[in-house]
Amino acid sequence: MVKRLGGCLCGKVTYSVEGMPIRVGICHCTDCRQESGSAFTYFGIWPASAFETSSGETHQYAGRQYCRSCGSRLFACDAEEAEIKLGSLQDAPTGLAPTYELWIKRREPWLPALPGAEQFDEDRTQGGN
Ligand SMILES: [Zn+2]
Ligand SMILES: [Zn+2]
Repeated sequence: MVKRLGGCLCGKVTYSVEGMPIRVGICHCTDCRQESGSAFTYFGIWPASAFETSSGETHQYAGRQYCRSCGSRLFACDAEEAEIKLGSLQDAPTGLAPTYELWIKRREPWLPALPGAEQFDEDRTQGGN
């Protein structure tokens, strides 16, 4: 089974995810913009059991975990699912293509809809992403 390694910019926090993600998406919402400082976030959802942190300490804000030394945004994890910021994976490109887009009403006008990706005006479900 494929095992992907990820971590933060300074290298203190490392983690791994095993197998393929349940789903991959991008989100243009205001929270994601402000958290990332970018126009959207790119994330993959794995079962929580497939996710493991290997080293380092994270801090969190509203469930979003980041490296306390370098500030890299890394993941959010609850009992069921781990949401990984795919830009924090070691190998790029990841080969993981988003199948849906959230909060497209906040998408920058210069950015076209991703062909073939399901489009949501806001969240996918009431639970979020
Ligand atoms: Zn770091
Ligand atoms: Zn978002």
